[in-house]
Amino acid sequence: MMTAPVTASFDRMWADLGPVGRVGSGGYRRFAWTREDHTLREWFAGECAARGLDLVEDRMGNQWAWWWDGPGTVDDAVRQGNPGVAIGSHLDSVPDGGAYDGPLGVVSSLTVVDALRESGIQPDRPLAVVNFVDEEGARFGVACAGSRVITGAMTAERALGLTDHDGVSMADALVAAGRDPGAVGRDEEALRRVGAFVELHVEQGRALVDLGAPVAVASDIWPHGRWRFDFPGEANHAGTTRLEDRQDAMLGYADLVLGARRVAQTRGCVATVGKVAVTPGGVNAIPSQVTGWLDSRGADEGQVRATVEELRSRAGDFGATVTEESWTATTRFDEGLSNRLRTALGSDEELSVPVLGTGAGHDAGILATAGVPAAMLFVRNPTGVSHSPEEFAERDDCHAGVDALTTCVTDLVTS
Ligand SMILES: [Zn+2]
Repeated sequence: MMTAPVTASFDRMWADLGPVGRVGSGGYRRFAWTREDHTLREWFAGECAARGLDLVEDRMGNQWAWWWDGPGTVDDAVRQGNPGVAIGSHLDSVPDGGAYDGPLGVVSSLTVVDALRESGIQPDRPLAVVNFVDEEGARFGVACAGSRVITGAMTAERALGLTDHDGVSMADALVAAGRDPGAVGRDEEALRRVGAFVELHVEQGRALVDLGAPVAVASDIWPHGRWRFDFPGEANHAGTTRLEDRQDAMLGYADLVLGARRVAQTRGCVATVGKVAVTPGGVNAIPSQVTGWLDSRGADEGQVRATVEELRSRAGDFGATVTEESWTATTRFDEGLSNRLRTALGSDEELSVPVLGTGAGHDAGILATAGVPAAMLFVRNPTGVSHSPEEFAERDDCHAGVDALTTCVTDLVTS
């Protein structure tokens, strides 16, 4: 259990972050390489300095704060077959996002350092707290940009060319933030230091509420993808064109929206049409073209594929063309590491610490795909809501999360 000073440390850091980037809705706007982001990065650097951690930035600007009092440098330890353990998350947010998605993991990880020191634990291998940059992709449209670039999942060229809502490229945003876009790129050296990564995150659903447990270990990230449906029609006058003479592109789109819900339900998946573009877009004009974007995910890859195929075939009846814009297969977290966390948390028997899959992407998933052993812990969210000011975690559950992470890290860094 956390001692009073450790609890106070968590609470103080949580209170510190409260006002940064908060907007009228009660939510947060903390976008990559903005003034708010700068404030958060400086805050992180300050917390790390106060703990005597050695802060290094990788080639995308992710902040890694190392604790290593052993012989030689962190790189020496890695060379001697003793790679580090990293814990952390991100501090950026979606537009009007909640307080917990990201910051809970960063603050909990910094608190773990305090808890280890409070109990006099000296790590036998390097330990890092990491703040990943641009996890939400709220500004430049690609989620997990920080981890994608250093793992090579996204090239520097593509990242730097991404533009925000105002047409500012990531390259220009980096320059404006006083950074060198030329330094951006894959960073094998940064990754080589990491033998295991554990990301603690607020749960983005209600599973732990239903299970009555404060903390879970993650199993995998659901397969997910995005598809563009283009429905053709013919523009014409909304008053003078007889119904039977119309080719109304909106009808096929309407069928897609309702069908997505029905088909996903029968196949145990989720499907969402959250974005639509109508041409010409006049109230009194029959649409000549409607484009809808479908997002579908689910625990079972085959069922997600089947959901999309069924919708593709229905859309075909309306003459639609369907384009797959992205597809990510199931991301499995490292089984050995996840089992070790479960054992450390005292669950030799099945299900005493719940194991959950998630429909959301995370830096831990990007690292796992790149071959870095990665695992996640989830903390109960009583509203089940995320990416909204409604996102929440009880103070006691936050503390339980820190306790769980401390237990796991203690197991990982002591031999
Ligand atoms: Zn997150």
